[in-house]
Amino acid sequence: MNILFMGPPGAGKGTQAEAIVNEFGIPHVSTGDAFRLAIKQGTPVGLKAKEYIDQGLLVPDDVTVGIVRERLQQSDCEKGFLLDGFPRTLSQAEALEELLGEMNRKLTHVINLKVDRNKLLARLTGRRICKSCGSTYHVIFNPPKQEGVCDKCGGELYQRSDDNEESVGTRLDEYINKTAPLLQFYESKGLLTEIDGEQEIDTVTKKIVSLLRG
Ligand SMILES: [Zn+2]
Repeated sequence: MNILFMGPPGAGKGTQAEAIVNEFGIPHVSTGDAFRLAIKQGTPVGLKAKEYIDQGLLVPDDVTVGIVRERLQQSDCEKGFLLDGFPRTLSQAEALEELLGEMNRKLTHVINLKVDRNKLLARLTGRRICKSCGSTYHVIFNPPKQEGVCDKCGGELYQRSDDNEESVGTRLDEYINKTAPLLQFYESKGLLTEIDGEQEIDTVTKKIVSLLRG
């Protein structure tokens, strides 16, 4: 069971990934964590990545692929894995295919969580923060008792400037544009399943589990 998880920010990917790795006892391989681990352990490719990050530079693909390779070769991935956050581009997808091939493995499922752009906007722009105590709320998922007022201290709630519709919309469009070719790539290989991410969290989990159980 070698799974790739995809989905835009706000689609609930993290929550679903956690449920799936618990259900099947496979590791959640997120590229962010893999980077932190490689850097902490000081592996050769981890040190290389650190050089770029320290200089504020974009980590080149061959280094990222090296980090993913190191992670997937660890013994906990033998039974399978749930990969998340990589690949992000078509060339990375090709590199992943090559590196799995070297390990005599291949992806078995690519799961894309689909949520309508307007719903994503609502989810991602709904966060509110208390000016006085920093408590966070969400207008849909965790609303305060009285609109605009902190339950804990009565402080005024505000929206962070980068949570506004325009910057969130830009972030979403970037994701959608970048990953569209990837989805086509996996679709053409018969690996892609799109799951409706607008349903209840538990319903989405059940659909993914039954897909993976085949
Ligand atoms: Zn407060």
